[in-house]
Amino acid sequence: MKIERPRGTRDFLPEEMERRRAVEKVMREIAESFGYREISTPTFEHLELFTLKSGQDIVEEIYAFTDKSGRNLALRPELTAPVMRMFVNECSVMPRPMRFYYFSNCFRYERPQKGRYREFWQFGVELIGSDKPESDAEVILLAYQIMKSLNVRFSLHIGHVGLLRDVLSDVTDKDRAMRLIDKKDWKGLEMMLEEEGFSEIFHTVREISEAESLNEVRSIYPDFDYSHLESVFGILESLDLDFTPDFGIARGLDYYTGVVFEMYAEGLGAQKQVCGGGSYRLAKLFGGDDVPSTGFAIGFDRVVEVCSIEIERKPVAVVVGFGDSLRAFRVAEMLRNLGITALVDVMDRSVRKQLSFADSINADFAVFAGEELDRGKVRIKNLRTQKQEDVDLESIGSYFSEEIT
Ligand code: ATP
Ligand code: MG
Repeated sequence: MKIERPRGTRDFLPEEMERRRAVEKVMREIAESFGYREISTPTFEHLELFTLKSGQDIVEEIYAFTDKSGRNLALRPELTAPVMRMFVNECSVMPRPMRFYYFSNCFRYERPQKGRYREFWQFGVELIGSDKPESDAEVILLAYQIMKSLNVRFSLHIGHVGLLRDVLSDVTDKDRAMRLIDKKDWKGLEMMLEEEGFSEIFHTVREISEAESLNEVRSIYPDFDYSHLESVFGILESLDLDFTPDFGIARGLDYYTGVVFEMYAEGLGAQKQVCGGGSYRLAKLFGGDDVPSTGFAIGFDRVVEVCSIEIERKPVAVVVGFGDSLRAFRVAEMLRNLGITALVDVMDRSVRKQLSFADSINADFAVFAGEELDRGKVRIKNLRTQKQEDVDLESIGSYFSEEIT
């Protein structure tokens, strides 16, 4: 019986995994260079962690289940809530600010399509403990550097949900309105606001979301304190970041309170959002102090799709044995110690077949573990140049450093 993988999931073959690991490495190194340290939380949590802020509706979109003891659990659909739960439970006495990053799989019950899966990966950071413009600027800069280093062609949009929430302050269901704005569902928003008698608010929201600069939005809606946003923009401009002010960013998740940002990559079609983030307050909701935080989540799978990155590959040698596997194992060990990937024959194949296997996996060298080993030599064939020579065991190191340029 052939069993298919579940809908919306993927298998990753070695080449794909090499690419994914290379991308992951860049992300980790950049986050670490900013002082962020990795954390890891459970794959499943109490369902409540995700419904507390977003409400019961979210259950439709997540893998929720009851375990054998009747607990309501859920596979994590994202990492910010788990990280904040962890912060409240484990880290409240650690020195602030805290800089955490994660790289983990997430699960959402969504309709699978290109760039949208039921199991996908997020790389994200949370900077916990500050609500100053510098922390927003740092987190945005970090996401920006990651995309640049991966040669993603993207645009960065920055706004402030406080502004939209302020405009909507008289509206009963602000979260619903924000979700409609996030989806750019203007018809839906107009209907909703007209029903409540707020058509004027609708027009203001539309105008704000179309404004192209701080000055423009200030003239549309002067009753808001723009100083925080001004500082963030100021820092990022001085650092030569290329971004678009976008006051229509509402973010789908309900926990953002201040500056928010999104990144869209070219070459992805409809699923073009590769990063979303902003500042929020969740710690209090999870039973901690009211600690401000800023963070982002990168849609790892979408970035892998569009980034361009060199993949480092160690030289590969096939050790050709002549019926004496111990010799082959010893030679392979020597090569591995030199940083060369070494494969030995485990199928008792003929020399000819071992060489054709080397060819089929595109190996760089064939190293013969023959009798000359007893005279302190190995025969090495460079499969790129077809050049073959006997090399003293003491000089294999220098042989390879010369051949691999
Ligand atoms: P979208 O509008 O594309 O559904 P979102 O607002 O739900 O995104 P977030 O919750 O902010 O996304 O998650 C951060 C990032 O994770 C997104 O920008 C996106 O790149 C990625 N992402 C979200 N859902 C999926 C999914 N089902 N499959 C693959 N990547 C996803
Ligand atoms: Mg979504």
